[in-house]
Amino acid sequence: MMRIALVEGDGVGPEVVQATVKVLVALVPDIELIELKAGLQCNKDTGQFLPDETVNGIMEADSCLLGAVQSAPAGTPGYRPVVPMLRQKLDLYANLRPVKPIVGDGPDMVIVRENTEGLYVGEERVEELEDGTKAYVAERRYSDLGMKRICRFAFTYARDNARKKVTCVHKANVMQVTDGAFRKTFGEVSQRFPKLRTDELFVDAAAMFIITDPARFDVVVTTNLYGDILSDEAAGLVGGLGLAPSGNIGEVHSFFEPVHGSAPDIAGKGIANPTATMLSAAMMLKHQDKVGLAEQIEAALRECYAAKEVTKDQGGSLGTQEFADAVVKRL
Ligand code: ATP
Repeated sequence: MMRIALVEGDGVGPEVVQATVKVLVALVPDIELIELKAGLQCNKDTGQFLPDETVNGIMEADSCLLGAVQSAPAGTPGYRPVVPMLRQKLDLYANLRPVKPIVGDGPDMVIVRENTEGLYVGEERVEELEDGTKAYVAERRYSDLGMKRICRFAFTYARDNARKKVTCVHKANVMQVTDGAFRKTFGEVSQRFPKLRTDELFVDAAAMFIITDPARFDVVVTTNLYGDILSDEAAGLVGGLGLAPSGNIGEVHSFFEPVHGSAPDIAGKGIANPTATMLSAAMMLKHQDKVGLAEQIEAALRECYAAKEVTKDQGGSLGTQEFADAVVKRL
C-alpha cells in the first residue's frame, strides 16, 4: 500500500491538493493519505511554520504532495522560507522540472536544478563600510559532493529515461571559482556516461535559446538560482505556471509540488488550475515505480485539454473541482 503525506499549505494549496486527491483516490483506492501542516496558516494555528511533526511525517511516508506555502511578510519573527527549509532538512538535492506541453507539439526538456546549495543557502548579511554606507552580501556555496551528486543525478535520469543529451548551464567565464568548479565536475561525471551527448551554455545564452530554440535542450543541469529562473521561464512556453509540475528528490525522501505559489489573488474562489499539482502527483507515482498509474493521469489530462474541458486560465469554463471531476471521468 502507498502512504502519501499531504501538505495542503496556504492560498490555493488546499484547493489544488484536494482536486488532485480526487484523482489519486480514484486511481489507487487503498492509498493511505496522511495530512500534515506547514506554512502561514500553520503558524497561525500552531506557532510554527514547519513543525517537526510535519518533517517526520514526510520522512515516514513513501512520498509527499505539497500544495503551496505562502511567504511571510518581510521581518516576520522566526520566519524562514518553508520549502527551502524542507529541502535542506530532507536533503532533497535534486529539483526536477519537466517542460512539455500537455497537448500538441512543443519543447520537451527536463531541467535538473541543484536544490540545496548555491545562492540559496540563506547566508546573507549587512556589512558596514568605511564611508558609513552599507553593503548587502549573500554567500554562494557549492560543495564537491553537492556538484557531483546533481551532475550524476542528471546523467542517470537522462540514461534511465531514454534522453540523448545533457546540457550544463553555468557562468564560468565570470564566476570562475564557483561556476568553474561546476563546469569541471560536469565534465568529469560525463566521462562515465559515454552514450549521452553533452553541451554547455552560459546562463544568459541559455535564457535566450529557451525562447528562440527550445528544441536544442533535452536534459539541462544547473545550479540553484539559474535553475529556478530558467525553469519558470521555460514554463511560460507550455501554458504557464498553472501547468508546471516539479519534484524535490533526495537519496531517501522526496516531495512533489506545483511550480506556482499560493496565488493569494485567486485563492478561495474555486478557479485555480490543479493541472500542475496533478502532473506533480504523476511524477510522484513514477518515482514510486508506478509508471502505469502516472500515465493514466497524464492521458486523462491530455483528453480533457484536447476536449477543452479546462479551467478559466486555459480558456475553459470549469472550476477547480469540476475540472478534477472531468479528469476522474476520463481515467
Ligand atoms: P507566492 O508568494 O506564494 O509565490 P504569488 O502570487 O507571488 O504567490 P504565484 O502563486 O506563483 O505567485 O502566482 C503568480 C500568478 O499566477 C498569479 O497571478 C496567480 O493567480 C497565477 N497562478 C498561480 N497558480 C495558478 C493556478 N494554479 N491556476 C491559475 N492561476 C495561477
